[in-house]
Amino acid sequence: MIDKSSLPDSVWAATAPLPIETYPLEEDISTEVVIIGGGYTGLSTALHLGPDICPVVLESNDIGYGASGRNNGLVIPTLSKADPEEIIRTYGKEKGEQTIALIRDSASLVFDLIRKHNMEKAGEQNGWIQPAHSPGRMKLVEKRVKEWGDRGLKVDLLEREQLEKITGSKAWFGGWIAHEGGTVHPMAYVRGLAKAASSLGAKIYTNSPALSLICDNDHWIVKTENGSVKASRIVLATNAYTDDLWPRLRRTFVPVKTWQMATKPLSDNVRKTVLPGRHGLSDTRGDLEFARYDWDGRLVSGASLIFDFNSEERLKEHVGKRLQKNFPQIGEVEWEFIWNGFLSMTTDYLPRLHVLAPGVFTWLGCNGRGVALSTAMGAVLADLVRGQSINDAPLPVTDLKTVPGHGLVTRFARTSLLNRRISDRKELNLE
Ligand SMILES: Cc1cc2nc3c(=O)[nH]c(=O)nc-3n(C[C@H](O)[C@H](O)[C@H](O)COP(=O)(O)OP(=O)(O)OC[C@H]3O[C@@H](n4cnc5c(N)ncnc54)[C@H](O)[C@@H]3O)c2cc1C
Repeated sequence: MIDKSSLPDSVWAATAPLPIETYPLEEDISTEVVIIGGGYTGLSTALHLGPDICPVVLESNDIGYGASGRNNGLVIPTLSKADPEEIIRTYGKEKGEQTIALIRDSASLVFDLIRKHNMEKAGEQNGWIQPAHSPGRMKLVEKRVKEWGDRGLKVDLLEREQLEKITGSKAWFGGWIAHEGGTVHPMAYVRGLAKAASSLGAKIYTNSPALSLICDNDHWIVKTENGSVKASRIVLATNAYTDDLWPRLRRTFVPVKTWQMATKPLSDNVRKTVLPGRHGLSDTRGDLEFARYDWDGRLVSGASLIFDFNSEERLKEHVGKRLQKNFPQIGEVEWEFIWNGFLSMTTDYLPRLHVLAPGVFTWLGCNGRGVALSTAMGAVLADLVRGQSINDAPLPVTDLKTVPGHGLVTRFARTSLLNRRISDRKELNLE
């Protein structure tokens, strides 16, 4: 069950610049486009529609309440599983190349928006690193460098010594860097998007859950508790936080809870040897190991758990040990913040783009790589809203397909972590 009450006690909520002032919707209004969800997808869509179309954005809670205010902030211009050749095998040559170009350019889009709209302390484009956790995984790294490099992404293979120098860790066997990647302050970035969209004319209402969508001839009525919006087009930008607003949508993906945590600020001396270039990294494990700094020198990492029992204490110990294994020079790890959020996972780890009814658009399935992708999907959704043919969208538009046994799959989704941990270890033992 997703708690919809308030912003989590995250380092991002505690350290972000203040949001623009917003209020609940308390009247009946008309507009061309209504966007439901105030995260990267919804606000990027609003920004890409302005200034000629001024949409209304409805957010259940505060801006960035969903995954956009809770994530690790790694800006990654790739998908979590499929690389370019697989994308082409799945989508065909023409659509596949369009999808690849969308993903390749997605990180730069994030940082271009940050620079263009002067978003305060929102991001650092200094590259994203993926270290290999076993010698065998260097083959995957080499494949990624080749396939993404051939498609124009600026990438470099990092031999073990180079990786050690750039990360300050001997724990990995080499890796690669995507130079257009980097990190965002997730909440500063989502609030920056809200400010930019609002300056171009978007009207953003918070604490205004969309409660129902009613089709009335050629337009839609979106009802909130104390108001309504009449619009001809709708973007559902609710992702893992999707509720029952649109029939079956919630059952087309699996929401997976993952945890984030931030240390107290590390000393200057430690920071000189742990990720000295402030790069963000996430490795090749199925049970991902990842870390990045916030602006004050806190290391932000996290993990998933199979069971919720005594979560915070178990996580502090587990992730603390992981950090010490990767960076022994860090010493005792003291945690300052811990929070969690939900990811939307699809069964094939590919994103989905849907036209739910004429004029009603959505995408889902970030599979853990949604900072850059949601921003790029905002631009895609804005084009569709403007009337672009679905054939020209850079992702195939597909019908809704619910996950068979959705209730059970959701309940037991986190047990797959066990398999991932076993295969991570097996790989190390085999090599
Ligand atoms: C813990 C965690 C770590 C992550 N780390 C990374 C990372 O390092 N790098 C990366 O690329 N990706 C990461 N992701 C994924 C990334 O954060 C998401 O893909 C991205 O933020 C999704 O943005 P969004 O706008 O589509 O959805 P969200 O930000 O989830 O926004 C959906 C919004 O819709 C609102 N909503 C829902 N129902 C209604 C309704 N009926 N009416 C009005 N509003 C409604 C919700 O309140 C919510 O604010 C992470 C995700 C999590 C949870």
